[in-house]
Amino acid sequence: MGTIVAKFGGTSLAAPEQFRKIKDIIVQNPNRRILVASAPGKRYPDDVKVTDLLLAACELAKEGQDFEDVLLKIRERYNAIISALEVNLALDEEIGKIRSHLQGEVSEEYIASRGEYLNARILAAYLGFTFVDPEWCVCFHENGSLDLMMTQRAMKAALLPLSKAVIAGFYGADMKGVIHTFSRGGSDVTGSLAAAAVHADLYENWTDVSGLLAADPRIIDKPHTVKYISFRELRTLSYMGASVLHTDAVLPVSDLGIPINIRNTFQPQNPGTMIVRKLPKGEKKDPIVAVAGRTGMSVLQIEKVMVSDESGFTAIILDILKNRQLPFEQCLTGIDTVTLVIRSDLLNPCKEDLCAEIRQMLNPDYLGLKENLSMIAIIGEQGTEASDANVRVLYALIRSDIQISTINQGAGKLNLLIGVPEEKYQDAIRVIYETIKDCAD
Ligand code: ASP
Repeated sequence: MGTIVAKFGGTSLAAPEQFRKIKDIIVQNPNRRILVASAPGKRYPDDVKVTDLLLAACELAKEGQDFEDVLLKIRERYNAIISALEVNLALDEEIGKIRSHLQGEVSEEYIASRGEYLNARILAAYLGFTFVDPEWCVCFHENGSLDLMMTQRAMKAALLPLSKAVIAGFYGADMKGVIHTFSRGGSDVTGSLAAAAVHADLYENWTDVSGLLAADPRIIDKPHTVKYISFRELRTLSYMGASVLHTDAVLPVSDLGIPINIRNTFQPQNPGTMIVRKLPKGEKKDPIVAVAGRTGMSVLQIEKVMVSDESGFTAIILDILKNRQLPFEQCLTGIDTVTLVIRSDLLNPCKEDLCAEIRQMLNPDYLGLKENLSMIAIIGEQGTEASDANVRVLYALIRSDIQISTINQGAGKLNLLIGVPEEKYQDAIRVIYETIKDCAD
């Protein structure tokens, strides 16, 4: 029998109806044996997540103010679930423990973790699965960073002997028993660690969308869902701001080639997006899987004749940036030119000083700064087919009168990165999306 680790996010566990949906999902595939639970999320757009309620209670406690109203809201959220599902859990006792912690020396991470702790206990009781407390198997160093080796060993020992288990997401503990949490959205990381520890066949991440979209829905009306995307392509998409999955959730499973399937609890029949190292046999991936971008970029262009014959020119420029702790997005070198793409919000406070220093150190023939640019990534790593599609994209942009300020594609051919003026950003995304849709047909 195979093993699927299925992580359910906050909206998938926000109310009793969702717990019932999860039960149906579990019944449909008995390989879904290890479940990871988030805290109850939002039931409607302006609802408050339980984690945020817990953090609010924590703030009030630290300021010496009354937190009972917030604690009551938390109690009501869980009570609604427990009574509708007829789960046996001593809620008063659990809320009492949280209260006495808030009355003592408050640890924000401990309080925040109680959202997942209680929800996982409820889910386990409701499904008849064994509850696993990550306090004993997600191991942190005392400084709050994850101890990956220990975690893999401890999780393996905790999960492998169990036929069906629910583990709480988002937290773990150090050797002294002090609770630590991942950053927000960190139950994704717990799921990934669990999948890696048991060498799962699949890591399912159940959320409230049917996968990754091929473009930003604020610009493109109903973009299509990506069917397959590689881990490398996903990295670019996340870098450009897509936020379906916690970034730290990728590495534990991608290292082992365990695919991630993003699924929608509210539309379980939708196959969602598969994030894979290798495509399954017989399956085809679009040559370009997605387009994404960022505005607020500046381009610094430095030219000096014969510099391509001199070694160290680029190194000096990069040293200047390093000494100023100024990161750059891209560095393109040509014959006698170096072009740097830098985030404008980081460059603006020091742009005059930086240009003066470059002039002084390198005496360039030309130093130019272009501002108000955006960078667009056309994401697709499939060699020739993607290259053909890229050519079509560039051609379509030119035909639409969209000026291209930079083009960057490394030998790895993972993405084509292009710079366009900020005021043309949305038009460019539309033109590119139309072209990639045609290439996929
Ligand atoms: N409940 C936590 C949060 O709201 C962690 C998670 O849901 O993954 O960020």
